[in-house]
Amino acid sequence: MKIYKSYIGRQLLVMAIIPAIIIGIAITYMSTRVVYNVKLDDTKDFLKSTIAALEFNYKFTSFSNSEFYEDKSGIVYFRGDKVSDEYEIVDMSKDFTGAEVSLFYENKRISTTIKRSDGSRFTKTTANEVWNNYCSKGENYFDTEVIINGEKYFGYYMPIVSDEGLAVGMLFAGLPSATVHNTIHRMNQSAIMLCAFLCIVVIAIAVLQTNKVLKILNSVLRYVSDINNENFRHDMSNNIVNRNDEFGRIGRQLVELNDSLRISVENDMLTGLYNRRVAMKKLDECVAWANRTNDETFTFAICDIDHFKKVNDTYGHSCGDLVLKAVANVLLQIDEQEGFVARWGGEEFIIVLKKPVGEAIVDINKIADEVRKIKINYEDNIVGITMTFGVAQYISRQKIDLTISTADKLLYKGKENGRDRVVF
Ligand code: GH3
Ligand code: MG
Ligand code: MG
Repeated sequence: MKIYKSYIGRQLLVMAIIPAIIIGIAITYMSTRVVYNVKLDDTKDFLKSTIAALEFNYKFTSFSNSEFYEDKSGIVYFRGDKVSDEYEIVDMSKDFTGAEVSLFYENKRISTTIKRSDGSRFTKTTANEVWNNYCSKGENYFDTEVIINGEKYFGYYMPIVSDEGLAVGMLFAGLPSATVHNTIHRMNQSAIMLCAFLCIVVIAIAVLQTNKVLKILNSVLRYVSDINNENFRHDMSNNIVNRNDEFGRIGRQLVELNDSLRISVENDMLTGLYNRRVAMKKLDECVAWANRTNDETFTFAICDIDHFKKVNDTYGHSCGDLVLKAVANVLLQIDEQEGFVARWGGEEFIIVLKKPVGEAIVDINKIADEVRKIKINYEDNIVGITMTFGVAQYISRQKIDLTISTADKLLYKGKENGRDRVVF
């Protein structure tokens, strides 16, 4: 049965797949957050160290307030060297790190690696907000959306502080947002692909396991439906009965139920022989066999205990029961390969032998002899019995009812002629 057609199949799949998808989405979301935060910290550290290197190259590490100044024409000097519109140090930094950098005198950008579209440097511009709100107070500033020259940057600003403790300028390092986001995107893609792959693996395992469970359930269902249809010959697969789980237990219980039901439905309670219902089924099989092979036939005998009523009347019903059991034991001497015996009803039994009457009669005479030898020791009485047999051979293509009624008539004839005989 297809999984989607089975209610249990669908439920099992939903139970496995929905959590897998939810966990997959949660892990994907969390891993993208982690990737973003890690990349953010990395970028921050990278920009900070870029600025530290830049500070070192400018020799801003220990200087007095008066060493960093702007003259009347707006040119800025550091320790007597012109630093405004000088690009050697910033360009070296960019060559080395790839990050854009700028040097500010107070809020004024006096040197930078950032260029306008015409190729000129993006100097003589200001960063008033950062200067006024952060760096002039000695504070660092970091933002993921710093807009410079129309482009977004992950940007870091650090104040340049003199030995007197005064913020006299700023250093900036930034990476274009697009570049950082591309890296984050690439890292996220791997995480998402890994999660998707894991989800697919979980779903595949869920489908396989659900199929396994459904296979077992269907097999159990077929078994139960066979029992329901009184088909008790069906063996349950070892794959189920040998399991150590609930399915194994259900399987073993069903086999027991099957066996006890088969016995109570097919067998006569008192003698344990097949009952008339099963006998009719088996007779039909014999008819089919004889008609299929054509040159084969079988013999049908009805046997009836003589004066059985007298046994009951004289010694009691339970003595009668013992006699019936003893007769059944004698009848069971018939080899199963050769045919079968059954309790036809009351004190009547049948013997079916897959051989012509000429050969079968030998076996039936033996049975009659064995019956004569039965001695039931009942309440200090020895009870012996005899039986009368009506024997007929099945004639090919004939209805079995005809064979039965022929045997019945011969049995009646035997009773009339004095009982204790085999008539054919
Ligand atoms: P006949 O030789 O003509 O066959 O005489 P009979 O007494 O055997 O035949 P009859 O049909 O008169 O009696 C059969 C008796 O078998 C009647 C019935 O009470 C008895 N009987 C049928 N089933 C059972 C059973 O299961 N147990 C016992 N104890 N008796 C049974
Ligand atoms: Mg009878
Ligand atoms: Mg009788």
